[in-house]
Amino acid sequence: MKKLMLTLLSIGVIGLMSWNGPITPSELIDKDLPYLLAFYKTRHQEPEISLQEKETAKALAGELRQIGFDVTEDFGGYGIVGILKNGDGPMILYRTDMDALPMAEKTGLPYTSKRVPGEGQDGAMHACGHDMHMTTWLGTARALANMKDQWKGTLMLIGQPAEEIGAGAKLMIDNGLYQTFGVPDYAIGLHCSPTIPAGQVGFGKGYTMANTEKITINVFGKGAHGASPHMSIDPVVIASMIVMDLQTIVSRNIKPTDAAVVTVGVFQSGTAYNIIPDGAKLELTVRTYSEETRQYVHKRIKEICRGVAMGAGLPEDKMPEVIIPDVFTPANYNDPELMDDLVTSAQKAIGEAAVVAAEPLMIGEDFSRYGLTPEDVPAVLYWLGTAPQARIESGDLPGLHSPFYYPDPEVSIKTGVSVTTQGLLDLFNGE
Ligand SMILES: [Zn+2]
Ligand SMILES: [Zn+2]
Repeated sequence: MKKLMLTLLSIGVIGLMSWNGPITPSELIDKDLPYLLAFYKTRHQEPEISLQEKETAKALAGELRQIGFDVTEDFGGYGIVGILKNGDGPMILYRTDMDALPMAEKTGLPYTSKRVPGEGQDGAMHACGHDMHMTTWLGTARALANMKDQWKGTLMLIGQPAEEIGAGAKLMIDNGLYQTFGVPDYAIGLHCSPTIPAGQVGFGKGYTMANTEKITINVFGKGAHGASPHMSIDPVVIASMIVMDLQTIVSRNIKPTDAAVVTVGVFQSGTAYNIIPDGAKLELTVRTYSEETRQYVHKRIKEICRGVAMGAGLPEDKMPEVIIPDVFTPANYNDPELMDDLVTSAQKAIGEAAVVAAEPLMIGEDFSRYGLTPEDVPAVLYWLGTAPQARIESGDLPGLHSPFYYPDPEVSIKTGVSVTTQGLLDLFNGE
């Protein structure tokens, strides 16, 4: 007990002691909630967009140092790594992202973003809930730092920049994350769900989020006067036919039980109504789960482009150019065994009824990269329910990246910290 008291005093942040046996995560979190709520509101009011998370990272690093973590800053952009060594046991990575989106907030909350649109900037908003991710991450760190007598191992906390542009995890891993700090035994993270009620969490097994790629197609043609189509090979018509044929990849080529998305989001061509231009540009987002399907979609896109161009009579040197970048956000794969363990812990923390099954989505999240290294670290990204009760009742549930999205702060913080703390405790203790 003396040792425990000393530990608590040296941490001195939460300053909690239980005289009736070991402190439970629930007791700790309840007492820490006002602190975390204030932290959350500050983060919400002071969002920073991708690759500009300077003050946010500094705040997180300061918080971790205060509770005994060894913190490295500016590791891959503004990335931070906090290490808490607590005896022999597994090393577990727990990641939060830190970036906001370049958009104006329209929630009307009393703690609305201070980064309003102004000269030359769009404003900034935590419309993807990364402020909630940071808060539950900090809450979990504070709980575990106060319960060091109840677990053994090494906690590796990651504050990741630039998730929204799919760059941050790669920045940190390419900067030698695992070479510098060691390879974790597990990697976990959470993401806010705008539809799962606050107070609940959602888990999906296997692939839960998609390979996310941007593909550009440059279509060539032969320009002419708008009144002389016979003098042209019209790239607007060719690109239009390509757009229509691309629709058959998912409907006719992909196995019906597999999943893929091919969306043409950009179609650009021409300068004036009476000129047939000599080129057109298409930009696509392509979403898949497996590598095999990803490669197959690429193959079909190239075949369709070439086929349509040949049909239009374009010569070999005017075939469409299909640009597929090497770097893309890989699909998120939730390790089944780790997920089962975390589900059991979550049920212990918040009750069986509050742990729900979540459907896979075709959105992207670069958390996937922490598991996809050559070391193949078992990883799970789970959903933290955030939808406020009143919004569920009204049926008005703005999605992530909506200027109207906001989580129910108290309930979401408490749920996220409870579930993650219990999950980590059980993993550290091999339960
Ligand atoms: Zn987002
Ligand atoms: Zn996000």
